[in-house]
Amino acid sequence: MSTTEKINLLNLNRAGLEAFFVELGEKPFRAKQLMQWVHQRGVVDFAKMTDMSKTLRQILGGKACINFPTVEMIQQSKDGTQKWLLGVDGTENAIECVLIPEKSRTTLCISSQVGCTLNCSFCSTAKQGFNRNLEAAEIIAQLHLVHHSLMREGKQQGVTNVVMMGMGEPLMNFDAVMTAVDMMCDDYAYALSKRRVTISTAGVVPAMEKLRQTTDVCLAVSLHAPDDALREQLVPLNRKYPIHELLKACRAYVEGYRSRKITFEYVMLKGVNDSIEHARALAKQIGDIPCKLNLIPFNPYPHAIYQCSDKQTIDRFREYVSSKGIITVTRRARGDDIDAACGQLVGQFKDRSRRSAKYQLSLESITGVSHVH
Ligand code: SAH
Repeated sequence: MSTTEKINLLNLNRAGLEAFFVELGEKPFRAKQLMQWVHQRGVVDFAKMTDMSKTLRQILGGKACINFPTVEMIQQSKDGTQKWLLGVDGTENAIECVLIPEKSRTTLCISSQVGCTLNCSFCSTAKQGFNRNLEAAEIIAQLHLVHHSLMREGKQQGVTNVVMMGMGEPLMNFDAVMTAVDMMCDDYAYALSKRRVTISTAGVVPAMEKLRQTTDVCLAVSLHAPDDALREQLVPLNRKYPIHELLKACRAYVEGYRSRKITFEYVMLKGVNDSIEHARALAKQIGDIPCKLNLIPFNPYPHAIYQCSDKQTIDRFREYVSSKGIITVTRRARGDDIDAACGQLVGQFKDRSRRSAKYQLSLESITGVSHVH
């Protein structure tokens, strides 16, 4: 049997693995054992999984595999940030994830799609079009590869936080993202608390409602503008889900949870969305929602049509919104010398346009979003 016909166990969360083992005539607890080997100890060779019988290990070798994207390149920034370039589909496509070490935590920013469909006007991923959704295996593999590399280096701590702020829109790849989140939070895998896993969305409202019913990870919402006219220019998805509906979904997400907050992301674009008028309108829009506001200095890239707001303007904006009682911080740019800062995750694509066109059609049929350009 060739590798492609084998089932990639990285695609299965605990429930999926239990079903897999039961199908083999084994007990469900094998799922926990396998997860500990693979995710906690970083052992992916079935032959070394010594708490399973030799026969079972052989059966696993025949029916299953543990397949990773290939590590194509690791770039190290002066500030310690690392960008990992991973090959998928052979090396036909590439995705990126970014490791951001800080004193008290180590955050991994991971991708959910190869490219993106949303075409936000300030984002460099958008410029590459869309190729495909990542599988759960390819999402969790980003955490596996980076975490176990830290462990092998003898670091005191591995990855402590995951943010889905890399390439793609996580809520457009809902099932695979949720399967991967299950593994991130599973006690037999990475055991991250839900408070340390953040999904960032440009505002796919129906999926936000589904998310609320499915899980309680942290939610970050890319708002970027206080009114629909401006937001439509920056985030075309706003035509389908305008601010009013988006904020309604945000209120619903936090309702009934005393400690839950939405993180609003707001990219600071010079002369576009950064005036005190914008700050005032923004504070009015989100003032009644338990939230914090992250101001993201725009990270430029070749041919970008925007510039970053001046430091002074950002400070003034932050002070104004803070004075309205909203916790507001300016995000520090990390890894900008290696193009790893927000919106700079550029994969390498071949055969992009053809599949991109195909996806636009299916996207329309799923979400009714037609004019995302
Ligand atoms: N699609 C999701 C997650 C990916 S983008 C979302 O939209 O939230 C992660 C964050 O980086 C978003 O807030 C996005 O708006 C922001 N971003 C994208 N390009 C940027 C750039 N060039 N400079 C600064 N922030 C950017």
